[in-house]
Amino acid sequence: MSENTIKELKDSLFYEPRHAMETVSEETVKAADEFCEEYKAYLDKAKIERESVEYFISEAEKRGFCEFDRKRKYSAGDKVYYNNRGKSLILCVMGKKSISEGVKISAAHIDSPRLDLKPNPLYEDSNLALLKTRYYGGIKKYQWTAVPLALHGVVIKADGEKVRVCIGEDEGDPQFVVTDLLPHLAGEQMKQTMSEGIKGENLNILVGSRPFSKDEGSEKVKLNIMKILNDKYGIEESDFLSAELEAVPAFKARDIGFDRGLIGAYGHDDKVCAYPAAQAIFDAENPQYTCVTVLTDKEETGSDGNTGLNSSYLKYFIADLAAMEGEEPWRVLSASECLSADVNAAFDPTYPEVSEKMNASFVNNGVVITKYTGSRGKGGTSDASAEYMGKIRRMLNENGIVWQIGELGKVEAGGGGTVAMYVAALDVDVVDLGVPVLSMHAPFEIISKLDIYMAYKAFKVFFEQK
Ligand code: MN
Ligand code: MN
Repeated sequence: MSENTIKELKDSLFYEPRHAMETVSEETVKAADEFCEEYKAYLDKAKIERESVEYFISEAEKRGFCEFDRKRKYSAGDKVYYNNRGKSLILCVMGKKSISEGVKISAAHIDSPRLDLKPNPLYEDSNLALLKTRYYGGIKKYQWTAVPLALHGVVIKADGEKVRVCIGEDEGDPQFVVTDLLPHLAGEQMKQTMSEGIKGENLNILVGSRPFSKDEGSEKVKLNIMKILNDKYGIEESDFLSAELEAVPAFKARDIGFDRGLIGAYGHDDKVCAYPAAQAIFDAENPQYTCVTVLTDKEETGSDGNTGLNSSYLKYFIADLAAMEGEEPWRVLSASECLSADVNAAFDPTYPEVSEKMNASFVNNGVVITKYTGSRGKGGTSDASAEYMGKIRRMLNENGIVWQIGELGKVEAGGGGTVAMYVAALDVDVVDLGVPVLSMHAPFEIISKLDIYMAYKAFKVFFEQK
């Protein structure tokens, strides 16, 4: 056989994932780059779940979405949103088909790992004012010291008034930081394991250093901080008890690399899927099936809590839709399909030992489909069926979307989960589809512009199914 015949045979028989640049047009690359300019603007505006909900509601309203009213009757093409306590959001476009034929759901999360303030956080020690924290989600604690932090969230005052806090983001704002030991004195610390070198209880945020007045007395640095907070926000120390204040990295999203192919930012996991899932439902014109994008909270702590997907809010929303047509909610759910829109670990050439290269996802090889997550022997995963994988694969291929498969690390290297299993628990067909990320859960995560654009296109064709 000639070498050409062998090459042709290989091309037709072998599975060879390729760099997206090898298959897409120049216009697609340009479109991806443009898409990402808006994505970066979103990242800088909405670092926490509440800000994401506000951002997407305002974007939705610009496009004719109205707040969902379960007593109203909706018709095909109507656009609604359901705001769950300001921390998770459902966007929905009514389809032409009966709700009995099921809905198409994309589900991403808008919370990201961070440092939450404790309920009673403020103290003074040795001329410094500090805030106690408890970390939220899975972090490598050493990565969160000596990086500039901003404070986001809300405080509910004693009289019930809600005060919004966002400080450290605007040019000229002060910022905050967790201090770390100098190497000269870190001999003992450096002997510890990386998980023990920085203790969770040591993630204290430095917020002040000047006393209230020259007069002698204790806790005057703390008093000065409380005075500044009282002047600016009208809050007292006890108001921290009814607050959600979240410290997040203060830096902005930036292009990474000489060729600008990547974006570095805080919170790509999972805003890199939430953003395209929302844009896709915004752009889905007159869909056949009713389309739903869920932007959920609490994924990083296990999806528990009434704003997480382990609560019933999605089920209740579907039940309200079903009731409009006199259908049973479980019939709707059983006929529904979902793309669980979450990130996967991109193969990192500096740490090849945690991945199995044949099944890992690679930056720039397109949107990643993850059949199963979990750990060890597929513990804690929904594991999509071959039939559903086949359907999604066909849909992506027919629409020229660059995609790859992925696995969250090699067998027994660790593992993790997504919201897929909570959606699967509703008897919905579901598979994970999202964007590969480098340095996942670090204060500064990396994704590819082409991969996020492919995710957008994937959600869009999913919503536009005939
Ligand atoms: Mn995630
Ligand atoms: Mn995560």
